[in-house]
Amino acid sequence: MILRDGYTPSLWQSTVQPYVSSSKPDPAATYDVIIVGGGITGISTGLMLQEAGLRCLVLEARNLCFGTTGGTTAHLNTLLDTPYSTIEKKFSATAAKQVAAASAAAIATVRRNIDQHGIQCGFKEADAYLFAQTKQQQKELADIFEATAKAGVSVSLTDAIPFPFTLVQAMKAGGQAKFHPVQSPPPRVSSRPGILYMLPTYHQASIFCTSVVLRTDLTPWPAC
Ligand SMILES: Cc1cc2nc3c(=O)[nH]c(=O)nc-3n(C[C@H](O)[C@H](O)[C@H](O)COP(=O)(O)OP(=O)(O)OC[C@H]3O[C@@H](n4cnc5c(N)ncnc54)[C@H](O)[C@@H]3O)c2cc1C
Repeated sequence: MILRDGYTPSLWQSTVQPYVSSSKPDPAATYDVIIVGGGITGISTGLMLQEAGLRCLVLEARNLCFGTTGGTTAHLNTLLDTPYSTIEKKFSATAAKQVAAASAAAIATVRRNIDQHGIQCGFKEADAYLFAQTKQQQKELADIFEATAKAGVSVSLTDAIPFPFTLVQAMKAGGQAKFHPVQSPPPRVSSRPGILYMLPTYHQASIFCTSVVLRTDLTPWPAC
């Protein structure tokens, strides 16, 4: 079982053994990039840099996916928490289109990484539903539907959803997916040349690099 920052165990953590790094950082080396934080952001960034031929080091204070990645709902979606109607109102229709395109590109990147590295993580395309249960919500849904379609997401209105909830109307969105976010086997990735994951903790040490990527959603943990 992997450890994570939340008190409530997640579905993902109970099915995965903690990753044990098979290599140690080379104190004599100068890395091209050091990435701080071994969640999906740090690992994906490391992979892309590795593919670009850079020598990277990922420093993780606890264990891979200890943070938010270990407790996510793991929907890969182009429907975000902030509806496109709000994005359009607060920014512009162009911004809404950019957000939709970036979200679709992110899903495509996850899919490409999974395919390329043969990661068995149950990746599956899926539809997403947003539904209204009152007439007032239906009005809101109509605004969201219009802005979502305008942003370029494939959506349709329906009055049937595959869940046992009463509703007035629903919006169905295609191009979504789900996966096991912690199942990605970093050892396989780290065995490729040019990248090294050091786990579980970094101690007081001097490591040299030419760039640093800092991506941690948590307050810093004391060195163990
Ligand atoms: C309940 C919930 C549901 C969610 N559902 C979805 C969803 O359905 N779809 C979606 O797209 N997103 C969802 N999200 C958001 C998504 O999970 C996060 O945006 C994503 O996992 C963040 O990944 P990350 O790599 O940026 O951060 P994290 O996964 O938090 O990784 C940061 C890492 O940095 C490490 N760290 C912290 N400080 C240090 C330090 N000083 N030195 C070294 N390492 C350090 C931590 O141990 C951690 O492992 C959800 C989030 C939550 C909480």
